[in-house]
Amino acid sequence: MEYDGHKITMLGIYHGLIVDGERVTLHRYVWEKANGKIPLKMVIHHVDGDRFNNRLENLELMTYFNHKRIHAGWLRDEGGWTHKPCPNCGLKPLSEFYKQGGGYQSKCKPCNLVHNAKYAEKHKEQIKKNKLRYWHRAKLGKPLTEHQLLVLEEVKTDKIVYRFGRYSINGLALRENTVKLLLERGEITEENIKRYEWVSTP
Ligand SMILES: [Zn+2]
Ligand SMILES: [Zn+2]
Repeated sequence: MEYDGHKITMLGIYHGLIVDGERVTLHRYVWEKANGKIPLKMVIHHVDGDRFNNRLENLELMTYFNHKRIHAGWLRDEGGWTHKPCPNCGLKPLSEFYKQGGGYQSKCKPCNLVHNAKYAEKHKEQIKKNKLRYWHRAKLGKPLTEHQLLVLEEVKTDKIVYRFGRYSINGLALRENTVKLLLERGEITEENIKRYEWVSTP
């Protein structure tokens, strides 16, 4: 086989030519012959997926970035990208993925939630500790923020322990007036409070 008077050989996984003593892949040669030099950081993609179909209409100039997406299974139409694969459950529309830093998260929304839930389950204790610490720092007497209320919602099933004149949740000390405030606000009930007997220390 010949192209343009040059013998076609294999060049890696592609067909190639030797032109003026230099090896070039056939698809790059065909595209450049019609359009001029391929710009830096751009690649030539075989539209039908057949890397031996080097007819000009099967060759598309695209960025390295977009080429990676194409071969990762992303789909597009005239308006741009429309679908991408989720590693867990396959091809899905882009609206099914959370955005992240100009792109999209790898897993789709449902798979992502499952992943996060598993993470939360695994690191339950540490997450709880962080939340308690954060909540505990909230200024007494100031209205609680929405986030603090959410955190409180998560921890208020735990008993508030009254010990040695102090209250605590999971070992974190709370001042008595904090507890009073929470009672007043109806955030906790007396039932949440477990009073320990005073134990004198030597
Ligand atoms: Zn390609
Ligand atoms: Zn998924």
